[in-house]
Amino acid sequence: MINNIINTVKHIPIEGITYKQLKVEKKPLTPEYVPPPPELVPAENRSVCIDPSRTCMPLGAMWATLGVHRAIPFVQGAQGCTTYVRYTFARIFREPTLIANASFHEDAAVFGGRKNLIRGVRNLVCRYQPDLIAIVTTCSSEVIGDDIPSFLADALDVMEEEMGPEVRDLVKFVIVNTPSFAGSHVEGYNRASREFLKTLAKKTGQTTEDIYFIPGMMMPGDIKELKHIFELMDISYHILFDISDTLDCPLVGMPQSIPCYPPGGTRVEEFIRAGDAKAIFALSPDAGSAGAKWLERRYKVPAFVQTMPIGVKNTDNFIKKLAEVSGRGIPERLRWERGILLDAMADTLHYTMMKRVAICGDPDFVAGATRFVCELGMIPTYILIGTKSRTAYQTIKEVCDEYGYEPVIMNGSDQFEWEYALKHDIPDVIVGHSRCVSISKEIQVPLVRFGFPVYDRVGYQREPIVGYRGGERFLARIVNAILDYHYPDDRVHQ
Ligand code: SF4
Repeated sequence: MINNIINTVKHIPIEGITYKQLKVEKKPLTPEYVPPPPELVPAENRSVCIDPSRTCMPLGAMWATLGVHRAIPFVQGAQGCTTYVRYTFARIFREPTLIANASFHEDAAVFGGRKNLIRGVRNLVCRYQPDLIAIVTTCSSEVIGDDIPSFLADALDVMEEEMGPEVRDLVKFVIVNTPSFAGSHVEGYNRASREFLKTLAKKTGQTTEDIYFIPGMMMPGDIKELKHIFELMDISYHILFDISDTLDCPLVGMPQSIPCYPPGGTRVEEFIRAGDAKAIFALSPDAGSAGAKWLERRYKVPAFVQTMPIGVKNTDNFIKKLAEVSGRGIPERLRWERGILLDAMADTLHYTMMKRVAICGDPDFVAGATRFVCELGMIPTYILIGTKSRTAYQTIKEVCDEYGYEPVIMNGSDQFEWEYALKHDIPDVIVGHSRCVSISKEIQVPLVRFGFPVYDRVGYQREPIVGYRGGERFLARIVNAILDYHYPDDRVHQ
């Protein structure tokens, strides 16, 4: 048998093979392509999900934790639940990430993860001296029924015995329950936003002028763009889960020394003072509004949930609301930036006008981008919201009604259904994440990458798409993709 297999392997010369010779042949399993039965194309008619446009819940909670200074997520589950997240982060941000794992094996599956949590947390505290540990559960620990609060209490007792009572004040703990079968990474971030505030926020009764922001799963470049806006408006701000200087920073200190933390991230004290905030904004309704609403309910801090500020109107709405809440005027510089975006849109309208666009991604990104493409004169055709969301669906519906378009909105469906539609009704442009590369190549349509995850472009994480300046860059990417694909190489039409 083994000889048969060896004989079928092509001979490789001793000096190796050239790139030209390197060709992977994909052989179909059946001699002819068998199209799927039409009734099985809609995801709601199937009991399986094919090519989901989302990933698992703990990832969102880990993402949020990595935006906190000297914080480490401790994943209560098997190593795989952490490995692929670290791999995803490394591909997107090109930065190392500190994520600890309880290392579940067969015994944990039978007896629960108590021992793993106690030992893991103790080791983490001894070796890394973090300010905060977020205990992020996984499918397995949730199914087993791990009683995390009681395990944590036991871990604190063990550490107190060994290190003294001070250890209780040295490290803060936040428990985020993220059973992946109950939602996606978007919900994981949303839950983390609530649990961090629930566990840490306090109210002294002395309201400050500070305004808090929960950005959602924006890139470091987007958060830097938000900071630019706040500084122009002279706002006293705190960004919760601020990954801008933890997942995009030079390698400071000795990376081989332990502990080695990036200098950025939201401080634990900022969470503690959140109860005294003047207001809190959630800039991604599906990823972060739970935290903002909790703060409003518990401490009466006014919460404002905004559509992600992508494009002109979404940014206008955000800035107007911010000016109203903060009592600050809108500076001339911001009006100028808005003018530049409008100018860029007018300059390129003949390229974007009437172009049919298919969109795919997380609800907050898709909802923000739909309005922007409509502002560019494009026609949305098939919109895939990777994680089911009533808010995003409503926003998209309202925008499309306003512009008179009737796209097919696949709310919480999978890429199989969306791609099937695209193959039968080819758009001019696709706006989506890196997992849309295959369909873009197959139907020969340009892909403008945006949202989560984008791992096949260097520097994407530093380029904002929010705010007026972000809109200008997003527009440039859309137009350049159209130019590359839809105009002849001699460029006479440009
Ligand atoms: S889906 Fe569940 S088991 Fe799989 S990686 Fe995510 S948390 Fe772990």
